[in-house]
Amino acid sequence: MSGAPAPAVLAVVGAGPRATGLLERIAANAPELWDGARPLHIHLIDPHPPGPGRIWRHEQSGLLRMNSMAEDVTMFTDESSTVEGPARPGPSLAEWAAQFSGRGPRHAPYAEPADPEVLAELRALDPADFPTRGAQSAYLDWVFRRVLTELPASVTVEWHRTTATAVTGPPDGPQQVRLADRATALTADLVVLAQGHIGAEPAAEHRVFADFARRHGRFHLPPVFSADADLSGLRPGEHVLLRGFGLAFVDLTALLTEGRGGRFRTRPDGTLRYVPSGSEPVLHVGSRRGVPYHSKTRYRLQGPRPALPRHFGPAAVDALLAEGRPLDLRRDVWPLMAKEIGYGHYHELFHAHPARTTLPWEDFTAAYD
Ligand SMILES: Cc1cc2nc3c(=O)[nH]c(=O)nc-3n(C[C@H](O)[C@H](O)[C@H](O)COP(=O)(O)OP(=O)(O)OC[C@H]3O[C@@H](n4cnc5c(N)ncnc54)[C@H](O)[C@@H]3O)c2cc1C
Repeated sequence: MSGAPAPAVLAVVGAGPRATGLLERIAANAPELWDGARPLHIHLIDPHPPGPGRIWRHEQSGLLRMNSMAEDVTMFTDESSTVEGPARPGPSLAEWAAQFSGRGPRHAPYAEPADPEVLAELRALDPADFPTRGAQSAYLDWVFRRVLTELPASVTVEWHRTTATAVTGPPDGPQQVRLADRATALTADLVVLAQGHIGAEPAAEHRVFADFARRHGRFHLPPVFSADADLSGLRPGEHVLLRGFGLAFVDLTALLTEGRGGRFRTRPDGTLRYVPSGSEPVLHVGSRRGVPYHSKTRYRLQGPRPALPRHFGPAAVDALLAEGRPLDLRRDVWPLMAKEIGYGHYHELFHAHPARTTLPWEDFTAAYD
């Protein structure tokens, strides 16, 4: 019996940014690579909404922010991209946000985010701002919906709001993808695992700490994604050790201070004063280095862009590889990285702030090289 050919089936485990990028690439490449005679059905499997996924889901505190600037975040390709296949430009998060204040063109499919706080943030967003994760969630949700409109009619996408628990099958045959919420597995010709950072069994050290805390009726939080952490066990005024000074520290401190009703007031001199609510625990913070990371700079290049790479480009890497020995990051690669970054620093210093330098740039470069 002849009829429509059975669809090819792709299962994608995880529907966060990477899966969204994969769909975008399928849409971009389909005209060349998929004649449409055979349908392609894509199963997206994720308990969290496709596009934002778990990390960028809307349902998380508005106090949690990105550590990237809005102008640096994009899901699209342009002529600078090194992907195979066509570049399909689209707006960065900053460019996309500009449409809501009328500062930039509209991007289809146009829809204002439903959350009024997110919309207010997007309207006021400066390209150099560090947006909330909620703002990024709205952007990723839009990218996902836009990509769906770009897929040819022969390509269909179905979201399964559940967790994949196993993938079985022969190395070169159809795969069975088991789902947590049903007995029947999905059958797929190909499976893509786009799961991001997955949870891990707690390290032995954390099991020891957790046991100790349990025995003594105290609170212990193992390393977790901060948006998933239940901090309700931390009582007001309780002394808490925070181990580590990175992004999770920033997240947890925001959740345990402003998240507990504390407020920042601006002093007459423009500096901020924290006004506690009284519901905060007392935080004692430390790390192996003992100092916090530098906050990210909002400094913009004022001089011309340096021609890079200079010290850590393909030629330098080829020279290293030509030595034909195993490379050591610290010994072989790091010095070149440091020299490259240093070159960028001095280029800016000499061009944008010449009053702080004492010799001509050419002399400096010759010596630095
Ligand atoms: C707290 C935090 C902050 C970050 N901030 C930034 C930032 O500011 N800027 C930046 O560029 N990057 C940031 N990142 C990096 C972040 O990993 C990437 O931005 C991006 O989310 C990676 O996309 P991904 O799709 O590979 O993985 P994820 O975003 O992790 O998506 C993977 C998806 O797979 C799903 N999944 C996993 N296992 C299964 C399963 N068995 N079944 C079904 N679904 C499953 C998850 O639910 C999730 O939705 C941050 C990461 C974290 C954890």
